[in-house]
Amino acid sequence: MKMTAAVCHPGKPGFVLETVTLDAPRSNEIRVRIVGVGLCHTDLMISEFGAAWNNAPAVLGHEGAGVVEAVGEAVTKVKPGDHVILTFRSCGACDRCTDHSPAYCRSMPSLNFAGARSDGSATISNANGPVASNFFGQSSFASHALTQESNVVRVDYDLPLELLGPLGCGIQTGAGGVINSLAARHGSSILILGGGSVGLSAVMGARLQGCATIILFEPQQSRRALGLEFGATHLLDPATTPDLAAAIRAIVPMGVDYAFDSTGIPAALAGAMACLGSRGVLGVVAASPPGTALPGDINQLISMGQSVRGIVEGDSDPDLFIPVLIAHFRAGRLPFDRMIRTYPLADISRAIADQHAGHVTKAVLLP
Ligand SMILES: [Zn+2]
Ligand SMILES: [Zn+2]
Repeated sequence: MKMTAAVCHPGKPGFVLETVTLDAPRSNEIRVRIVGVGLCHTDLMISEFGAAWNNAPAVLGHEGAGVVEAVGEAVTKVKPGDHVILTFRSCGACDRCTDHSPAYCRSMPSLNFAGARSDGSATISNANGPVASNFFGQSSFASHALTQESNVVRVDYDLPLELLGPLGCGIQTGAGGVINSLAARHGSSILILGGGSVGLSAVMGARLQGCATIILFEPQQSRRALGLEFGATHLLDPATTPDLAAAIRAIVPMGVDYAFDSTGIPAALAGAMACLGSRGVLGVVAASPPGTALPGDINQLISMGQSVRGIVEGDSDPDLFIPVLIAHFRAGRLPFDRMIRTYPLADISRAIADQHAGHVTKAVLLP
């Protein structure tokens, strides 16, 4: 079928709205009409490189939510008309998947980043041939996406479907990073670096865990204000905090129990290490420049029993964790909708500029 998609082209940063062709669903595939899709940093990282991904035009987008339109004959998890959130894809069969750790699926790279189906065929094409697709098993910067059972989670009809896509990546990464990966203890202290949608979701996760001290380190005033609303107990502005470790020890003299970095900035990571107390854990979710070394002095790690923990998708098993997040949202404990501003998909460039400038924390595009 013909559909509209925001396409990025090799060597040309940014997106162009184009008409492309989406394959019919195969027996194990699900066609979803996208009603909202979040703009995540991972999409921008790839588009900023001018879509060097597969050296072909590409459809990105991996925080989709929408309505199931058609399913292949082998699909039993959802049916046409169901409302679904799209998340990352996993194989469902390896040791990690069967251990409820699909974010570390042994086939994660090939299922999410190959730019095509496992047999090499493209799900999307244009007049010139195949378009790199199947990004996170969805490529949802488009009016429609082909997905599979492992990366759809059904949700109730009464929820604001167009706002739910970010639960499939940014929100489960931030909240899950604190709830599942760090498993922050009740009454503990945590430093969160960066107050974008992932960092602010980590603030909400920290409040859900009952952390007593939640310190947000973020340059944008509007995002610090949201952090306060979401449960931060202390706010630090990098512009007026020349020595982060000293500022942290003025609040928590023995150092924090946890630090959660959503910036990927090497200097911030090193700063966070200096803030950790005895047995402190630094959780890391954001990509740093290739080749970036681990922060800190290994002798400090040993003498204080500290650790650095890499985190993918907040260690979420989406079928189990997304319903938990939705229950918190319904109860008012995870008001992630406060971070979101919606834009028509055609305004994707304005949404990117606004997100860069800090005018909006989480842009959601409406195809
Ligand atoms: Zn797997
Ligand atoms: Zn993402």
